[in-house]
Amino acid sequence: MSRRWIPPYALDEPGRRVLLLGNQAIARGFLEGGGQVASSYPGTPASEILETIADFAEMYGIYAEWADNERVAFEVCSGAAMCGLRTMCSMKHIGVNWAMDPLMHVVLRNPTGGFILVSGDDPSQHSSANEQDNRFLARAACIPCYEPSDPAEAKEMTVKLFEISEAYRLPVMLRVTTRLCHVRGDVVLGPIRMERRKGKMADDISWRKTPRLTGLERIPPQKPLHDKEEKLREAAESLEWNRVEANGGERLGVIASGVSYNYAREAIGRLGLEGKVALLKLGITYPLPEKLISNFLSELDRLLVVEELEPFVELQVKAISKEANPKIEIYGKLDPARKLIPREFELNTFIVSNALAEFAGVPKPVPPGQGAELGEVGRMVTPRGLTMCAGCPHRATGYELKQALRRLKVEDYIIIGDIGCYGMLSYPPLRMIDTYLGMGSSVGVSQGCARATGGMAIGIIGDSTFLHAGIPGLISAVWNNTKIKLVICDNMATAMTGFQPHPGTGVTAMRRQGNKVEIENVVRGIGIPCLEIIDPYKVSESVEAFTRALEFDGPAVVISRRICATEAVRLARRQGVRLKPYFVDPEKCTGCRTCINTFGCPALVYDPSKSKAWIDTTLCMGCGVCSQICPFQAIIEGE
Ligand code: SF4
Ligand code: SF4
Repeated sequence: MSRRWIPPYALDEPGRRVLLLGNQAIARGFLEGGGQVASSYPGTPASEILETIADFAEMYGIYAEWADNERVAFEVCSGAAMCGLRTMCSMKHIGVNWAMDPLMHVVLRNPTGGFILVSGDDPSQHSSANEQDNRFLARAACIPCYEPSDPAEAKEMTVKLFEISEAYRLPVMLRVTTRLCHVRGDVVLGPIRMERRKGKMADDISWRKTPRLTGLERIPPQKPLHDKEEKLREAAESLEWNRVEANGGERLGVIASGVSYNYAREAIGRLGLEGKVALLKLGITYPLPEKLISNFLSELDRLLVVEELEPFVELQVKAISKEANPKIEIYGKLDPARKLIPREFELNTFIVSNALAEFAGVPKPVPPGQGAELGEVGRMVTPRGLTMCAGCPHRATGYELKQALRRLKVEDYIIIGDIGCYGMLSYPPLRMIDTYLGMGSSVGVSQGCARATGGMAIGIIGDSTFLHAGIPGLISAVWNNTKIKLVICDNMATAMTGFQPHPGTGVTAMRRQGNKVEIENVVRGIGIPCLEIIDPYKVSESVEAFTRALEFDGPAVVISRRICATEAVRLARRQGVRLKPYFVDPEKCTGCRTCINTFGCPALVYDPSKSKAWIDTTLCMGCGVCSQICPFQAIIEGE
């Protein structure tokens, strides 16, 4: 009998060297550190952390779950930590905004279980609507912020952060960025801590068991928190993840943290600056080891601070330099005359090498992309705009909504999108979304637009996003009778972040069957007076339903339900079902381009030499929507 294959991150083989993604390394650290409860909401770049933990959870008696939003995930972990269990709550940077409310309170509650908050920041917005530096949020909450520079360090840090968190009875932030999350690196496996605690709320946390004072006393509750911060500042001086790399006698220095440390180290080597530039690697960026930094600064004439996004370390180092070395010149992002590191976008070795060369007065490196090979590759890549997949039900939904607006001659309307694939309805050819803010905001923002303009305001939101953050806004619309129209695009998955299940699927992170939360039951329960449920692959019926919802004199919801096209293709392959692509009958095609100009499925191609459309059958998944749109019935189902 063959043994079940165990992924490398789950092996109980201390000392073995394996190749892991940064996110898998963090999950492994959770396992080695004795983590017992993990909760999260999917979001790039942090999603794989919970997915990995869920993968080995059963094997090691751990609990892992997707919550319906980051605030709930954080509250679940807070409860477990206050009952003494080691917990981890991982999320993308914007998710921490949602968790801030309970975070600002749990820091005052002295949780006894180690509690790690992983913030996955996304410089360059690879998969996000903004850039955001969450080290400031750690600072605001008075919790320490640690930044690993590679997967091996991420794993080691995670293990030790449980101990640090328990020693101070305080959550800690592990701040990682996209490059660290998604890079692979060598990791040496450590022993798995098998202690499984039985949760119990400590007496000094429970107000029932240790009664509060009368409420009349004016004792500042933040004082113990501030005392912890001072102790953490002291402890940062001897932290193993901070180190000076220097030969001695250097008059130039670099301070770098996280992945920026790797860029700085490589740049020093490439430019031949060893022995001329000293490097201070920081593994903690709040609170800073002030004495270590003061000593480092005292030897230097000039300093370059290398960090991604905001000048968080630079600001603090500037303050430290006032006493340590007032004459030092500090380069980085703040001083316009000494600005060498961009504040926006992700860094890389070239950007840092360039900055370091200017800083050290040596020739700049050759920019990448100038080599002959890169030029050749560049010519082979076809430039392509952002678009939804072939057969995407969101495209059909958008098209049908637009047709209904046209039929009713509504020209003055505002459409607010949300966070999900349907955000691409803002690109040509449909180009129908005016703007969007954060998760779930389509519901509230459209109400503001409706009140301000007195006209038609429509929100478009996904299934997972609606369950994450759309429900309170819809309650408010019903309560205030604000006549918005809300389109809920239900493709039965959190598709954009990697097809994680959500409450509407009923499946849990550990692949068990939970209870399914029916979106229409939620909508009906809120009291929405007009609800339509459509299959967006049925064009005429859907346009009729949209027309009814738009005409309704009150708040109305249309649930557009159809499984994500990518998932449908996968399912069909697994079940051995052959999807039949469509094709264009050249005899009937007039070359009017309606299918391309008004709908724009990427499988539809226009051949200018023949003035005809054709379908790329390698992309077409056979949804049949284009055949309902073609005014000449030229698009036909294949055999
Ligand atoms: S397939 Fe139909 S819609 Fe597309 S160009 Fe031909 S006639 Fe026009
Ligand atoms: S049937 Fe038409 S709309 Fe559907 S995937 Fe194929 S080309 Fe695209």
